[in-house]
Amino acid sequence: KQIMKFDVEVLRYLSAHEFRVLVAVEMGMKNHEMVPTELIETISGLKHALAYRLIGNLHKHKLLSHESKIYDGYKLTFLGYDFLALKTFVNRGTISGVGRKIGVGKESDIYEVVNENGDSMVLKLHRLGRISFRRVKEKRDYLRHRNNTNWLYFSRLSAMREFAYMQALHDRNFPVPIPHDSNRHCIVMSYVPGYPMCQVRSLRNSPEIYGKLMDLIVQLADHGLIHCDFNEFNIMVSDEDEITMIDFPQMVSIDHKDAEMYFSRDVQCVRTYFEKRYHFVSDEYPTLHEDINVHTHIDRDIEASGYTKEEEDTDDDDASATASEDESSSGESGDDDTESDSKRSIEDCKSEQISLGETDLKSANDLLQTKDESSNVSNVDDPQSVSSLSTQKSSDMSFREIDMRVRKKLREKQRRQRMRTARKRAARNNSRQKLAVDIQGGKPGGW
Ligand code: ADP
Ligand code: MG
Repeated sequence: KQIMKFDVEVLRYLSAHEFRVLVAVEMGMKNHEMVPTELIETISGLKHALAYRLIGNLHKHKLLSHESKIYDGYKLTFLGYDFLALKTFVNRGTISGVGRKIGVGKESDIYEVVNENGDSMVLKLHRLGRISFRRVKEKRDYLRHRNNTNWLYFSRLSAMREFAYMQALHDRNFPVPIPHDSNRHCIVMSYVPGYPMCQVRSLRNSPEIYGKLMDLIVQLADHGLIHCDFNEFNIMVSDEDEITMIDFPQMVSIDHKDAEMYFSRDVQCVRTYFEKRYHFVSDEYPTLHEDINVHTHIDRDIEASGYTKEEEDTDDDDASATASEDESSSGESGDDDTESDSKRSIEDCKSEQISLGETDLKSANDLLQTKDESSNVSNVDDPQSVSSLSTQKSSDMSFREIDMRVRKKLREKQRRQRMRTARKRAARNNSRQKLAVDIQGGKPGGW
């Protein structure tokens, strides 16, 4: 029950071993939608009984979710993922406490956090998948070709993008929060004083702020970027009329084919809002063709969506991945659409996630190596087990081996199951035929 509360204090209730299990599930999720219990046990290197007990605990407290449709497996919930990220931030000394929730965005939760020095900062937990998928797809280019979705993965992608943009923009003196740290689906940034513009009833100097905002849109474009969500919810205004731009995982490149539309939409958003709210109308506003001189390409550095070529190609990759997967599992007919979809999403994630995942792996190792001083239960059960994941390379290799073994076992199991159903079906058909024969060719006059 205690773990349910979202509070750094509760990290104390999680033992090093429990984190080990969480990390094992996370690693397993690189190529399993649901990680087989056996695989969790093997990756974590914990003894069977202990692993089962801990998995049970984590499941009870909703850090893992369970499914036993095809086989017994678990995956991380957002809560479990949250704790992994929080633990990493705490271990790195980025934060030492989580305070009140200061915002719920469309696709995020925002908390106030503090570090050891008592400095206040902001933690943003990305939560993709909360709003309907179609709307996210419309908004986010990089999801365009995906059919099924691993939301933890996309939330992490979104956080990484936002952090990369924030760093690049901060380096070039754009008015954005100071990026402090990022891990998994979370970023830690500076606290921006003031309020979102949507809460500001009147501005002391609306023409000046209007000018600043248009200038900001132009500056961004000169650096190769379009915000795409440039509105009163994502602009913070301080008491001194300073503006800060927040929330930009959805930025696109100036080279995007719809750049013109996105650009004028951002501009129009500001114009409409200023007219409606502050009764300020101006004929002066920038257009992409006349006012933009791209001199720096932050977009290319970060490969903002719309610029990268791979995204155009994913369709084919998806198709081939699905085809080969389907061949190997096409015993059952009919309703295994969902199954192949989920496989596709796993295939989608696999290649990217393995490379992107290296920082996670590193932080996972940090987690495992740091002796958990706050845990009172851990390390007692099995003190030797804490080293088996200690180097990235060896864990990676053994992970692959283990995975191959488990996959093979699963395939065998599925094949056996298919055979069983096929046999049952044949038996059913047989008896049906027999029945038909009995009825048709029954002895005349039998009635
Ligand atoms: P979403 O992507 O879900 O819209 P945002 O990044 O826009 O999330 O954040 C949601 C809200 O949280 C904002 O409207 C703002 O009120 C608050 N917020 C976000 N970041 C900060 C920050 N660095 N400082 C202060 N408040 C913030
Ligand atoms: Mg927002």
